[in-house]
Amino acid sequence: MLLVLLSHSHCALEWWIRDIAYNLTHDLLKEYFDLWTAIDSIRPDLDESSEDTIVWTLESSGQYSSKSAYAIQFAGQVQSSFPALIWNAWAPPKCKFFLWLLLQNRLWTSARLQLRHWKNNYFCALCERNLETAHHLFFECPYSRLVWQLVATWSGCPSLQPTSWKEVLELEDCFNQTIRAGWKKEHTLAILTVWNIWNRRNAVDLQGRTKGATFPAGGYQGHGSSMVLGGMQSFKEFFS
Ligand SMILES: [Zn+2]
Repeated sequence: MLLVLLSHSHCALEWWIRDIAYNLTHDLLKEYFDLWTAIDSIRPDLDESSEDTIVWTLESSGQYSSKSAYAIQFAGQVQSSFPALIWNAWAPPKCKFFLWLLLQNRLWTSARLQLRHWKNNYFCALCERNLETAHHLFFECPYSRLVWQLVATWSGCPSLQPTSWKEVLELEDCFNQTIRAGWKKEHTLAILTVWNIWNRRNAVDLQGRTKGATFPAGGYQGHGSSMVLGGMQSFKEFFS
């Protein structure tokens, strides 16, 4: 909020009060008293002989600057976690874009299709037990949790193990639990795992394929080998 303090002459204040003396509603009256209290708290100089002055409180000099006006627009903004969580991770661009959609709950799961009254299967394609929400499909579904478990055991990354997760509802919090800061290998495996769960879901749902337990080799081999070639040495033990 821009705080510009104005000092008014006593005369100007009186006329301003007279102007709002009629048709006062409850809200207007409240605003009036709030403003009165605010003005009273700063004790303006009511010397009629002095000129009104405008002070720009965002600069110590009291002078307006476009730099401080530009900076105040970003006051109170919340830093997005997506650069660290998605865009700076080591994974194929299509998998990052997919994760971006997932964390904003924009994937076309049955639950989202149902909200729009579009054709859907209602049940999770992988376990056929629950309504297919993104939360269920990727983090709750018994089939998906088995996949996470297999990947965790195979890779030796404990944060991928579903038993280590707490019960959280937000998709971003769920995904956050699968990674640890600075652990690139886990981060990449977590992205590839949600990507593979979605592909398996589509294969079952859209192509009528059987679920199959192709993890870890089948779903990761292509991406993993490219990453080793691209320099991700920590993946060498898995994909070379
Ligand atoms: Zn399920």
